[in-house]
Amino acid sequence: MTLSAEQVEELRKLVDGRVIGPEDPDWDDERGAWHLQLDQRPAVVVHVTGADDIVAAMRFARRHGFVVSAQPSGHGATAAINGTVLLRTGALTSIEVDLAAGVVRVGAGVRWRDLNAALVGTGMSSLPGSNGDTTVVGYALGGGLSWFGRKYGQAANTVRAFQLVNAYGDEQRVTRESDPELFWALRGGGGEFGIVVSVEMELVPAPQIYGGRMVWPVEQVREVLRTFAEITASAPDELTLWAWLMNLPDLPFIPEPLRGRWVTAIDAVYLGAEDEAEELLAPLRAVGQPLDDGLAVVPLNAVTTIAQEPEEPTAGLLKAVLLKSFDEDVLEALLDVAAPGQPSPLFLYEIRHLGGAFARSDASLGAAGSIDEPYLLLFGGILAVPELAGPIAVAIEGVQAKLAPWISGRTLLNFSSGEPLAEVFTPEVRERLRAVKRRVDPQAIIRGNHPID
Ligand SMILES: Cc1cc2nc3c(=O)[nH]c(=O)nc-3n(C[C@H](O)[C@H](O)[C@H](O)COP(=O)(O)OP(=O)(O)OC[C@H]3O[C@@H](n4cnc5c(N)ncnc54)[C@H](O)[C@@H]3O)c2cc1C
Repeated sequence: MTLSAEQVEELRKLVDGRVIGPEDPDWDDERGAWHLQLDQRPAVVVHVTGADDIVAAMRFARRHGFVVSAQPSGHGATAAINGTVLLRTGALTSIEVDLAAGVVRVGAGVRWRDLNAALVGTGMSSLPGSNGDTTVVGYALGGGLSWFGRKYGQAANTVRAFQLVNAYGDEQRVTRESDPELFWALRGGGGEFGIVVSVEMELVPAPQIYGGRMVWPVEQVREVLRTFAEITASAPDELTLWAWLMNLPDLPFIPEPLRGRWVTAIDAVYLGAEDEAEELLAPLRAVGQPLDDGLAVVPLNAVTTIAQEPEEPTAGLLKAVLLKSFDEDVLEALLDVAAPGQPSPLFLYEIRHLGGAFARSDASLGAAGSIDEPYLLLFGGILAVPELAGPIAVAIEGVQAKLAPWISGRTLLNFSSGEPLAEVFTPEVRERLRAVKRRVDPQAIIRGNHPID
């Protein structure tokens, strides 16, 4: 759907923020997402300046039969956003820290790097993931797999209140008490139930953090992955390890000595003292001479740089699968299909250790629920040229086929790139989400990146 020139003008009169339509010279710069391979085509883009703009845009969309989406950073973009009135919330940057109450209230445009920077030195934290460029709100609506999640669970489950604009264009504060089912759905069911203006989240203690990345030549990969399996089998909830096998492209965001070569790495974060961490990580020190050893006491705002992910928009295809185990058999199958050292269209395999509080089930949790599987495997390739799409897709299928015995068949909403929701939620959770959607937005005026089907 597109807006007529008159409708764009009408919307401009209704909101304070900038409205960019297809006729504007910077339309092509404004309409895109972080995932450069998506030729995203919303109906119009609105840079909202606050709740009033969201209210006005929602009522406008309702009057004219349009659908509304929020897309602050585009890290989770899917084709579902096409044709919508696309709200950019980048101006909603308020961060209110209340250490006495143990909560933080953040606007819908706040990125993790900003929240972490605001909390440095307080000894408290929220639950950041690997990337500082994603927004706190978008991440928490989809669950939120944090470095600290083995200790404290998914970020969605730390939310105390959402301030949102509902499908009728009214402002609403949603808490466990005000609307338990909607509050449940918002905590992991995605952006389908309201346009969030701000979120209030519990803080957790994080007075000391030790972590960083160790990198080894790819020849060490078997030993590194075995050590990863061994440490994670008995790690305390304070320790989180992610293992990597990387076929690093020759691109500027890769540090110079590692560019253009296969390497293996372990990222670690420990919520506690250096000596305790070093004792737990001692087996890694025995693996052999690393190419790089970045383990150190780190401030909170360093955790979103450990995984060294690209911060600039990138074109790539990534698949995420949950693994039922990570033992010698799956390790050998992975090395067999990845063929480290050989040319490959895939550039990364990342295994995140889950378990701990992620796996603890509790009736108070939101739609994100708990995660039974102890590991998440992410793998994919960079689309340096569009022609790589075919080979990357074929290679992704090959990895899935090879690892099929260990893949649970379920993925996580935040890591889904448009897979059917049946792969994310159980039938019961889907039905419950559908019921909330029917009640709060019967005309489906609000659309998230993963529509409830
Ligand atoms: C490089 C990279 C690293 C990542 N690392 C992690 C990680 O460690 N842990 C993890 O859990 N996830 C991770 N993710 C996934 C990421 O958390 C999701 O893609 C999340 O949806 C991003 O939110 P965003 O707002 O930044 O992105 P957007 O694409 O801008 O938003 C995603 C969706 O969130 C919803 N949304 C956002 N804001 C609002 C709002 N104000 N109101 C209503 N709905 C809204 C909408 O449905 C929107 O389509 C990563 C993604 C990338 C690309």
